[in-house]
Amino acid sequence: MARVYLDANATTPLDPRVREEMLPWLGCGNASSPHLEGRVARDAIDRARDSVAALIGAAAKEVVFTSGATEANAIALLGAVRAAGARRAYCTAVEHPSVLRTLLAVPGLDVVECPVDAAGVALLPEALTESVGVVSVMLANNETGSVQPVSDFARLARDAGAVMHTDAVQACGKIEVDVAKLGVDLLACSAHKMHGPKGAGALWVRSGVELAPLYSGGEHERGLRPGTENVAAIVGFGAAARFALAGLGARRTRWENLSVVFLEALRAGLPDTAVHLAPVRIANTFSLTFPDVEGEAVLLGLDLEGFAVATGSACSSGAAEPSHVLRAMGLGRDGAERSVRVSMHADTSASDVTRCVAALVRVVKGLRALSG
Ligand code: PMP
Repeated sequence: MARVYLDANATTPLDPRVREEMLPWLGCGNASSPHLEGRVARDAIDRARDSVAALIGAAAKEVVFTSGATEANAIALLGAVRAAGARRAYCTAVEHPSVLRTLLAVPGLDVVECPVDAAGVALLPEALTESVGVVSVMLANNETGSVQPVSDFARLARDAGAVMHTDAVQACGKIEVDVAKLGVDLLACSAHKMHGPKGAGALWVRSGVELAPLYSGGEHERGLRPGTENVAAIVGFGAAARFALAGLGARRTRWENLSVVFLEALRAGLPDTAVHLAPVRIANTFSLTFPDVEGEAVLLGLDLEGFAVATGSACSSGAAEPSHVLRAMGLGRDGAERSVRVSMHADTSASDVTRCVAALVRVVKGLRALSG
């Protein structure tokens, strides 16, 4: 039996159409060179910039290509903190480590972490004090799929005169993302979460927002991300963004239907599993907590059966600490360790889902039999 990949929030399979579009650009010219080879590469980057901008409702000139969202988040947050001379930053307790750890590592910066409810949704404060210079709230959480009230935070940030950043990695290509409707100043996204290549991301910077550059060494990407551009990866990002936008509605409906299939089968087979479902969520993600079995053991059991899933955040798997996201939602250490994440991609089928739940039931029951 072919393996079933259900770890899309860690990374998605490369779309073969994206791969085709990338291939001619692997050995192309330097996009900064004025000769024909360079101009052709520059045009390809510009077309990709248009496609990424269209995905988020932005102007192309405001899109800066990066090596991924980790770098985009760092350029945004450190750049904004330094430009504003900010002494305090506000974020949620469930941010991705590329936001949380980046902020926490800034010497002298007071980082206030907004609590979340049991479903992982950030609890909006009444107001933000004017001492807050930068606010960062992710659009969709990578572990639970919970969609955060970003536009409400953006309003508070505006009232406090703070710069508003959102990590939209898990939302882009899954739900409609529009920078104007969100009211944010900075937005990060990543190609490999939408069937594009790894190593390509983007930071959208609203015109007029000041960022202190992290790097020096060139004027590429408006001086915010100097270095010769990875044209093939950027072209791949552009193609992935185009396909993601064209398929947005169909993909959502597909995931919503598959969610019903997944949850019904899970409730029938393992009724004591807690499913962390936020009221507004990305429909491809299921965060599950079992009362009595370790997530790591379930992951390994499923892997042997041919299914790829994750425990908590895939980005930190291998780390000893249980998920900070689930802990922030009120789960104890044990609960966080007894959790797995199943995340569907654009081509996940109903049979993938039903087979995965059947294997999950077998694995969990097998582990129970072992320990019982
Ligand atoms: N933010 C979120 C919410 C993510 O899920 C990820 C990827 N795990 C990142 C940022 C980092 O993205 P990249 O892999 O492109 O650096």
